[in-house]
Amino acid sequence: MSVYDLAIIGAGPGGYVAAIRAAQFGLSVACVDENAVPGGTCLRVGCIPSKAMLESSERFAEARHALAEHGVTVSDVRLDLNAMLRRKDRVVADLTKGVASLLKKNKVTHYRGRGRIDGPGRVIVTGDDDTELSAKRILIATGSTPASLPGVEIDGDRIGTSTDALAYEDVPEHLIVIGAGYIGLEMGLIWRRLGARVTVLEFLDRILPGTDSEIAADAQKLFERQGLEFRLSSRVTATHADNGECVVECENADPLRCDRVLVAVGRKPNIDRLGLETIGLEANEEGYIPVNERFATTADQVFAIGDVIGPPMLAHKAEEEGIACVEQIVTGHGEVNYDAIPAVVYTQPEIASVGRTEDELKERDVAYRKGVFPFRANGRARALGQIDGKVKVLADADTDRLLGVHIIGPRAGDLIAEAAVAIEFRASSEDLARCCHAHPTLAETLKEASLDVDGRAIHV
Ligand code: NAD
Repeated sequence: MSVYDLAIIGAGPGGYVAAIRAAQFGLSVACVDENAVPGGTCLRVGCIPSKAMLESSERFAEARHALAEHGVTVSDVRLDLNAMLRRKDRVVADLTKGVASLLKKNKVTHYRGRGRIDGPGRVIVTGDDDTELSAKRILIATGSTPASLPGVEIDGDRIGTSTDALAYEDVPEHLIVIGAGYIGLEMGLIWRRLGARVTVLEFLDRILPGTDSEIAADAQKLFERQGLEFRLSSRVTATHADNGECVVECENADPLRCDRVLVAVGRKPNIDRLGLETIGLEANEEGYIPVNERFATTADQVFAIGDVIGPPMLAHKAEEEGIACVEQIVTGHGEVNYDAIPAVVYTQPEIASVGRTEDELKERDVAYRKGVFPFRANGRARALGQIDGKVKVLADADTDRLLGVHIIGPRAGDLIAEAAVAIEFRASSEDLARCCHAHPTLAETLKEASLDVDGRAIHV
């Protein structure tokens, strides 16, 4: 039996990226995943298929409601849900093939089966490839799965998770979404655009917890305009299927009936049946695997990255951790700047942020200055016909260093990259304001909001 330099459990964005980086260093790498195809939740049943459906459903809504304004007349716009779902599956299939060939090209050995640690340096694989591996180091990158709620019977049919909601065979008449987080809003909007009545039940008194509250309040108004119904401060206590219908019970309210329920109340780390006890590893109180700044666990030569070590549960955060972990192992250097990790909600309009929220700055008593610029004052947004939203730049009141950037508006997810780079480079708002931005582009809003920190915005 050959001894690998590194055995990675999990071939999601954290695991497969770490595998490729390790292979670039010349390490012999095994990557174990129980799914036949690599890519993890993100590629198979998360980020990618949801973006494919968001894109398609937006085209449908546009064809029905927005093209006439551009002087494009279409009639008889109809939904072919099957074709839409097939396209989504093709997008996923093409990308998973791409990841598989990247692993092959980098000579990473991909084992198909469930990986379980069996004492130091040993991983047992059970599944298509039934085998035992020996490795000098083990990296746990097993990700997360949807969390459930007590009293809620997920049956994978009427009452399901985002995985089910990515493949409903028919447009629900009335979809109830539990949880107004990333998943609830993205999936809720998809089915709303395709014709469903969508009610979002949220335990808190606001949507998108953790997001800048001003931006979240703007978002709620814009989503309501698209027909999403919100019931805030509603704690779901039980849900069950009843003769093809679902009944959703909430605290202090009458039960609601609908034909489908999507449970989107967060995700929990995958640590079960991993054999952690065989190397003396224990999860912390929240269920995550504790690691140090080198992503090393308390077990010798065992490392962990991604969702399994804690939030934010984002693919790109896992990728950065995977690379930093491998670089630490090989070179002794490598780190992740958690202040510069962008987060994006791919709704319409998109919501993107990096750094501190205004709420956090207030809580921490940080003196800051704020610049705001609305998309309605941007020429490109006007030409696009997408003028809702704004950019908000937060800078340190003394040093002008950028502390946070929050965007709600067209292509916010792409625009935030500039802000993430600026924060990574410790830029000031003045730095951003003095950079030449092409005209007419959406990115000019970032420059203008930075100018506004000093009261010098030109176009408002
Ligand atoms: P989330 O944590 O973002 O939101 C869950 C929501 O459910 C919260 O607002 C919470 O208050 C609410 N909730 C909890 N219990 C409830 C109850 N009993 N009744 C009503 N509401 C209740 O979780 P999510 O949307 O499921 O997403 C899971 C993870 O996946 C997140 O960590 C997110 O980062 C990640 N994700 C990211 C993207 C993206 O980057 N675009 C997309 C989807 C998911």
